[in-house]
Amino acid sequence: MFLMENSLVKDNPLFLPLNKDKTVYDGFITVQEVGLKSHPECRSIPPPQYYSQLISEMETLGWDKLLFIDTQFRTLRLKAEDSSARQHILTIKLKSKHPAEAPECSADLPVPLALTWTAQSTLEQIHSQFLLCLQSLAEFWDVLDEIDTKTWILEPEKPSRSDTMRRIAIGNNVSIKVEVDPRHPKMLPECCLLGAEHGGSCLWSAGRNPDSSVLHNLRDVLEIEFPSPATHEKSDFNVECGICYSYRLEAAIPDQVCNDPHCGQPFHQACLYEWLRALPTSRQSFSIVFGECPYCSKPITVKMAAQKS
Ligand SMILES: [Zn+2]
Ligand SMILES: [Zn+2]
Repeated sequence: MFLMENSLVKDNPLFLPLNKDKTVYDGFITVQEVGLKSHPECRSIPPPQYYSQLISEMETLGWDKLLFIDTQFRTLRLKAEDSSARQHILTIKLKSKHPAEAPECSADLPVPLALTWTAQSTLEQIHSQFLLCLQSLAEFWDVLDEIDTKTWILEPEKPSRSDTMRRIAIGNNVSIKVEVDPRHPKMLPECCLLGAEHGGSCLWSAGRNPDSSVLHNLRDVLEIEFPSPATHEKSDFNVECGICYSYRLEAAIPDQVCNDPHCGQPFHQACLYEWLRALPTSRQSFSIVFGECPYCSKPITVKMAAQKS
């Protein structure tokens, strides 16, 4: 029995046993089947006309728009330029039944990408729809580009085209968090002031001049002059945490500040919470710990950091 089965497999390397005891066989299987079983995504190998269709669509669109295509000819990256000469990328994953089945499209946008596809649609049409979508967001990116070039951005570290939030440095340990609405970018954004003596107070301001830029309106409403790359170094603002001595702790920046005007030492929320909780002189009430600033011994409070899931 054993001899027979061993010689069977030896003589026929593609004759594979189906069970552990090597007693059940399912006839010959081909190399292609083995390949398909281990790579289920290969099951849908497109028909030859897929490739001719793709080439003719790319010729209509223009090969200069193609940034990348994978070796399977299934994923394409197309470039697109908006009216302010910003470069954008549209990623298209074609289905094997292209163009009958709609491709999956994605891009770095602050709003969901909504493109319409019918069985008659082409890459050129999808590219034009994408350009229209970019056009509708041009004002939003103009507002953020002005903020990004004329102020010091503390967060996000490297803003992407989909980021709607900016934390702007105002002074030593004081920053403002603004949220720009991609659909109403010229509206004065929702602002949240962070730092000593402000402790995260949120401001909603009514007055604004529709002829001024968002940055100008912010400056007028808050009555502050934003430090800019022209007037300040970034190191003036990214002051490290007084407990761990670093600026970034995972994604967090030191946003808890000692309220004593002579101290003003910043800390990460997680660092300050752990530090105060470990001291016998501290007192905890629900999620808030009351203790003393490790630098100046003046009273300081911190909320328990939100649990990361
Ligand atoms: Zn820290
Ligand atoms: Zn202090």
